[in-house]
Amino acid sequence: MENYDVIIAGASFAGLSVASQVRGKVLLVDKYDIGTFQISACGAPYDVIKDIGCEDSILQISDTFSFHVNNKIIDIQLEKPYCTFSFAKFCHILNSKNNADFLKAKIVGVKKRGGLFTLYTSKGDFSSGIIADATGWRASVAEKLSPGYVHRDMLSFGIETEVPYQCKTFHFFYEPDLIQEGVGWIFPCGEFSRIGVASYIGQRKLMGKLDSLLGRFNQKRQRVHGGFFCYCLKEPVVEGVFVVGCAQGQTLPLTGEGIRKCITYGIRCGEIIQQIVDGELDLREGQNEYSRFALRAKRGYDFLLKVQNGLLKTSEENIKMVARIISKRMVSKFVERYYRDI
Ligand SMILES: Cc1cc2nc3c(=O)[nH]c(=O)nc-3n(C[C@H](O)[C@H](O)[C@H](O)COP(=O)(O)OP(=O)(O)OC[C@H]3O[C@@H](n4cnc5c(N)ncnc54)[C@H](O)[C@@H]3O)c2cc1C
Repeated sequence: MENYDVIIAGASFAGLSVASQVRGKVLLVDKYDIGTFQISACGAPYDVIKDIGCEDSILQISDTFSFHVNNKIIDIQLEKPYCTFSFAKFCHILNSKNNADFLKAKIVGVKKRGGLFTLYTSKGDFSSGIIADATGWRASVAEKLSPGYVHRDMLSFGIETEVPYQCKTFHFFYEPDLIQEGVGWIFPCGEFSRIGVASYIGQRKLMGKLDSLLGRFNQKRQRVHGGFFCYCLKEPVVEGVFVVGCAQGQTLPLTGEGIRKCITYGIRCGEIIQQIVDGELDLREGQNEYSRFALRAKRGYDFLLKVQNGLLKTSEENIKMVARIISKRMVSKFVERYYRDI
């Protein structure tokens, strides 16, 4: 059985961010080829994508969010622009920043004996003293070591499709007629747009709602992608495994924004792991340091979850009133800064 300094499970936003910081003998495992398993609209703050060196993957930049509430459109001007990017290009650029061995295989099991993990995959078994689980909401490693780690009642579900529709701003639809317990969106991507709908309560029957949103813009559904995402922050270290990204619940409630968080937490997790590999931190110190970092924004997550739950109960008229208040320049600046600090 081959032994590695570090094994990273999952090679999407979180896994690739961890890998970008770790040297030594590293194994990166994913059941799909890198950059082929897109679930998201790939919208993120422009500076986050630029700072991680993936600017070449950007498709469109805009500094306006347009909220559709109660048949009105309320524009919110952003201080810092947002962008969409190509998932494949982003992953390939970020992947070029590591020297890990990539293995396309499904993780089917894990065992811990003493300080050593054995990872069982569809293409053989591998061992390491350090594992990072970045396998998304399923938390495929952590859940196997600690059954019940995944809170199935704390998952949102979304789907979207890419259509040849062009627009200038990011659109969000808070309209009960469209979707009662969630949100719709249009993310502009240059020649095309990603149009989608998501349910905060994990409702999976969304095709009709997606078709209805597409119909408003005379568009027809193309290939659909999407999935669940977890919005509840959980323990960052489970049985000694570092849990990163959506696996730890790092996708924000209310907005469903996860990429920015996966990158930030992934990079910090990778830096800490490298310090452990270099002997600057012992394993326990590194785990404590990562736990502190990954839970530092818990109050912000809890607050957004309260707003998300409140949104499910409040009237469209109230949502419109709040959106109007937020659209005032001073208020929007404050809200944007608070949100970006979470
Ligand atoms: C429809 C939709 C739209 C979204 N839009 C946005 C957006 O515009 N902006 C934003 O910030 N966030 C968005 N999100 C949320 C965002 O997609 C997640 O926060 C993000 O994908 C989490 O990244 P991750 O790396 O943690 O996990 P994932 O992206 O889920 O990646 C997990 C990786 O692990 C691999 N894996 C899983 N299990 C195994 C296994 N057993 N063996 C091997 N490999 C495995 C998978 O193949 C995958 O590559 C959206 C989500 C949805 C559903």
